[in-house]
Amino acid sequence: MKHDKLVNPSRQMLIKQSVAVAATALAAGTLLRPRTVQAAKAAKSSMMYQDKPHANQRCSGCVQFVPGSSPDANGTCRVVAGSISPNGWCVAFTPKS
Ligand code: SF4
Repeated sequence: MKHDKLVNPSRQMLIKQSVAVAATALAAGTLLRPRTVQAAKAAKSSMMYQDKPHANQRCSGCVQFVPGSSPDANGTCRVVAGSISPNGWCVAFTPKS
């Protein structure tokens, strides 16, 4: 008599439920994974960016500025796309405290 072909119905149900739980967990993990894609930055034109200061306001004094390789080198901005002059300015200027 072959016993390996016989499957206990409760065991079969347990296997099906385990597969369903695993599939749900996999789907949830995929759907709930933190998004690593960052929001798109604004275009310079939409932020009225200019390569020169606005009165005494300049990018190097803004909290959004990410400095380049030297104090005079262009850096980047957390909200405006592209290369940003430390002497530039835009309407999103936020002074460092
Ligand atoms: Fe310069 Fe504007 Fe970016 Fe501030 S938010 S660093 S002012 S471009």
